[in-house]
Amino acid sequence: MSNKTLIIGAGGVGNVVAFKCAMNSDVFGEITLASRTKSKCDVIAANVKAKTGVEIATAEIDADSVEALVALIKETQADIVINVALPYQDLTIMDACAATQTHYLDTANYEHPDEAKFEYKEQWARDQLFREQHIMGLLGSGFDPGVTNVFVAYAQKHYFDEIHYVDILDCNAGDHGYPFATNFNPEINLREVSAKGRYWENGEWKETEPMEIKMVWDYPEVGPKDSYLLYHEEMESLVKNIPHLKRIRFFMTFGESYLTHMRCLENVGMLGIEPVEHNGQKIVPIEFLKTLLPDPATLGPRTKGKTNIGVFVRGIKDGKARTVYIYQVSDHEKCYEEVMSQAVSYTTGVPAMIGAKLMLQKIWFEEGVHNMEEFDPDPFMEELNRQGLPWQVMELAPNETREVEAS
Ligand code: NDP
Repeated sequence: MSNKTLIIGAGGVGNVVAFKCAMNSDVFGEITLASRTKSKCDVIAANVKAKTGVEIATAEIDADSVEALVALIKETQADIVINVALPYQDLTIMDACAATQTHYLDTANYEHPDEAKFEYKEQWARDQLFREQHIMGLLGSGFDPGVTNVFVAYAQKHYFDEIHYVDILDCNAGDHGYPFATNFNPEINLREVSAKGRYWENGEWKETEPMEIKMVWDYPEVGPKDSYLLYHEEMESLVKNIPHLKRIRFFMTFGESYLTHMRCLENVGMLGIEPVEHNGQKIVPIEFLKTLLPDPATLGPRTKGKTNIGVFVRGIKDGKARTVYIYQVSDHEKCYEEVMSQAVSYTTGVPAMIGAKLMLQKIWFEEGVHNMEEFDPDPFMEELNRQGLPWQVMELAPNETREVEAS
């Protein structure tokens, strides 16, 4: 019997998921793309049809309403919902999936609209409900979180008896030519970057000021880049699921110009999430800023350069120290050529499709709510090579590093 797939969200990532599901339509079967603005779904569906020959249906949905979601899931008879709307919609979509016994996948953990804080707590709390309904929820199946979790699981399976140190390294060396723009949803991106940093060491979380810790990492195929310590959600599940871990940190690259713009916007209050009074109307500053900034979905044709995201892992194998760096390099222009989206959307959308594919094929399948590193990494790693995200493993001398001195 052929599967039915419902994709929710028609932004940069939704575009890639729609293309990639269509390219694997033997598994995904009948595909529907639904979002708040149906016209965006229609544009994507027309592009998918023109490039792949596969027809996908479209629909309008308010994903904040469980009732509307239940009706749409019933109408489409979806076997799985791929949630690539915003993190604010995670819980309503999970609840609608539970009500209709439909499998669920997302790429970003729940964030409360009124509080710049994201954590798995509320999604993990639905584990029992998902088990009772005999459905699976796969959380964080993007690149980071997502592939980074799988890379750590792969390192654990093939390279280490004990993993002690993990640094997740996220470099985007793309240039879109604008003085300031964000590569994915500006609100989510700016909230993440302007928040305090956090990492985990010896069993506890340590907090830093935003952008307080900077290192220069030498990224293969890109070169040395300023990289800043941020909190990132995959660390929350990895500290639970990787035994023997002593420290885990997350670094992301930012150029001077991006940071200067961001500090300036922050100083004048444009990153605020509380409504302010403006000419008799209430507006939320960061939402207004989103209206002014370039839509990330339009950056595709202008972005040049590469991304490199990976994990730098130190630990012990057969009693000896070992260091391994697993990474993936994508080229913005090549991604655009294939699916009309730049590499940040591509590197998120392809793993979302792969996670859903493995679930539908029952290769990755367990009732309840799960994170990526809980499953056998090998089938996912093979699919990455097949579906456009080839990766590399670099074995270093035990004490060698990719960190370079700041100039
Ligand atoms: P966009 O803002 O480009 O797209 C979001 C889409 O969701 C839009 O089509 C939007 O509709 C739709 N949407 C928002 N609210 C609702 C709602 N209430 N009901 C229905 N549809 C809604 O975001 P991206 O495509 O860049 O990102 C998508 C997701 O991927 C986000 O959750 C992001 O955090 C995550 N992500 C994960 C990464 C990873 O590596 N794990 C990396 C990058 C992103 P409209 O067009 O009307 O605004």
